[in-house]
Amino acid sequence: MEDCIFCKIADGRIPSELVHNDDICVAFNDLTPQAPTHILIIPREHVHSLATTTDQHKDMLGHLLATAAKIARDKGFADDGYRVVINTNSDGGQTVFHLHVHLLAGRAFVFPPG
Ligand code: 5GP
Ligand code: ZN
Repeated sequence: MEDCIFCKIADGRIPSELVHNDDICVAFNDLTPQAPTHILIIPREHVHSLATTTDQHKDMLGHLLATAAKIARDKGFADDGYRVVINTNSDGGQTVFHLHVHLLAGRAFVFPPG
């Protein structure tokens, strides 16, 4: 997608320090962190939101979650815990319409979220 900010990060048009990088996804620090660790994991493919995914995205979706778990293990906060969030469309609070997984850690989170 020509004007999508996350496509630009994924394909290097916006140079970014990547936390993780493979054939299917990239991960990078959120610009406005909501926790001591706040990482976004996004597919390289432009997908509007979780709501537009289909059966053909199952492998990619599983890969995003497996990558979140791997980053948590590698960075050493898996045992303390973390939160994974996918804001979806208007009521879900989605503001960037390129599917992304928030990986938040470094503090305790309340539930239900606001
Ligand atoms: P959403 O509200 O769509 O679930 O999350 C979008 C997230 O993207 C927000 O947490 C916001 O801070 C982050 N964000 C928006 N623009 C940029 C950017 O240009 N770079 C980075 N690293 N994060 C961004
Ligand atoms: Zn995109």
